[in-house]
Amino acid sequence: MAILVCRDCKREYEENTSAWRCSCGGPFQLSGFSPRFPQKEIQSRPTNLWRYREALPIHKDSEIISLGEGMTPLLPLVWEGREILFKLEFLFPTGSFKDRGSTVMLTKLKELEIRQVVEDSSGNAGASVAAYAARGNLDCGIYVPDSTSPGKILQAEMYGATVIRVPGSREATAAAVQEAARTTYYASHNWNPYFLEGTKTFAFELWEQLNWQVPDLVMVPVGNGSLLLGAYYGFLQLLEAGLIPKLPLLIGVQAEGCAPLYQAYQHGLNLPPAISKSETIAEGISIAEPVHGPEILQAIRETRGRIEVVSDLEIWATLQQLAQRGLYVEPTAAAAPAALTALIRKKVLPEVSKIIVALTGMGLKATEKLMILREKWTSS
Ligand SMILES: *Cc1c(COP(=O)(O)O)cnc(C)c1O
Ligand SMILES: [Zn+2]
Repeated sequence: MAILVCRDCKREYEENTSAWRCSCGGPFQLSGFSPRFPQKEIQSRPTNLWRYREALPIHKDSEIISLGEGMTPLLPLVWEGREILFKLEFLFPTGSFKDRGSTVMLTKLKELEIRQVVEDSSGNAGASVAAYAARGNLDCGIYVPDSTSPGKILQAEMYGATVIRVPGSREATAAAVQEAARTTYYASHNWNPYFLEGTKTFAFELWEQLNWQVPDLVMVPVGNGSLLLGAYYGFLQLLEAGLIPKLPLLIGVQAEGCAPLYQAYQHGLNLPPAISKSETIAEGISIAEPVHGPEILQAIRETRGRIEVVSDLEIWATLQQLAQRGLYVEPTAAAAPAALTALIRKKVLPEVSKIIVALTGMGLKATEKLMILREKWTSS
């Protein structure tokens, strides 16, 4: 039977607790679940992420809330002279990889007979949780900063969620939802450990798509680390199951305006320092206080990876470059390939063969923002 354990004080909680974090303030981690990877069965199933059924901690198949998500394409492209495999994580039902986490988290909540949830998000997670709440008939309230892309707010509203716009910073939005969480279940993509159980499937898919082999290097944008940690825990479980011989090197990419993990990495800290953040066009990774900061830094150390940082101008240039290759992504999703370009040009990208770069969110989500950026930057 799975239980929740506090990362910081190790206190144990039952799976069906209504608490969203430990009384000491620490986040929960899932414990007591052993994943299995029956390769033959996996291959015989529909091409969505529930094919890794035995690696997902859900008891009842009948409760699965799915929109057919996952098994996103792995597209080889020559980029700055190097062969790179782009994982098209923007090809999800709601347009971002967040659906990996939402399908598993909402399924678990349904299994626990929770009927009503609140969530906070700078955009994509809110739209994703709203979609899966709609699919599973849960009542859903989404708190967003009022600077969020209008398209993402509309999307959550179209799914039937109640959207609450909070003036001020991303942190003000977090405070507002935590107030609401006193009475309603907080289905947080940052705090709920089942969200990370879903993002692990990113690693499982890569393993299968590479003919059951481990990639050498994986680059992802990182804010709260749900994709980076999903990759890390996913590959770790494959390693522990004896199915791969090593972990891939993990590179997380932040935006210059908000880079607490980069600061920590640069200074060899185990915890992200307090930072004052400025505007960045990469709204999806504008996270000043990442809940999972210590785990992210530990994953980077253990895989001999690194945290990179890119400017808004580099992000914009890369976004255009991707579009001109047929890949239309939102600004946040151009951060990792922007860092890739910089590493290649500085000749510091390791000489390994299987290099993965995740493209995390679709360009159509940010139409209004992209129109403004094009106006502002294309002429100059
Ligand atoms: C959420 C998001 C990210 C960052 O994910 P974290 O879990 O915060 O690290 C990156 N790109 C897009 C498009 C996102 O929506
Ligand atoms: Zn605790």
